[in-house]
Amino acid sequence: MTITGGCLCGAVRFEIAADAPLGARYCWCRVCQYLGAGTGAVSALFRKDDVTVSGPLTDHVIQADSGATMHRRFCARCGTPLFSEAEQRPRQIFVRAGSLDDPNLAAPSATIWTKSAPTWACFDPKLPQVDGQPSPAPLT
Ligand SMILES: [Zn+2]
Ligand SMILES: [Zn+2]
Repeated sequence: MTITGGCLCGAVRFEIAADAPLGARYCWCRVCQYLGAGTGAVSALFRKDDVTVSGPLTDHVIQADSGATMHRRFCARCGTPLFSEAEQRPRQIFVRAGSLDDPNLAAPSATIWTKSAPTWACFDPKLPQVDGQPSPAPLT
């Protein structure tokens, strides 16, 4: 199966050779609040080798508190947040759930970084909550 997606303006499109994400989480860290324009952000994990991207991306690079060098990629035309990658985990790519043509594929399994969320945030009571960074998702 192929999963497809892209940005708001259509300049960036991507295809993922997978049936489903390896995992997805709803993150309320401060970075995800910027990406989500106030809410947290849901990101879905895939194998980087399975993802093919076309179109212009910008790359915002920062050193995370964990020491990882993070690349966050956006459509260069409309600014839609699309991907995030850590240099230290070169086989993984996180895809923003909103950029999938079918966001239903990225149902999160947990809510993370709840301690950074604003007091008005709503958490899904059916999902486990982690107050900070959980262990990195394993990828074989
Ligand atoms: Zn765009
Ligand atoms: Zn986050």
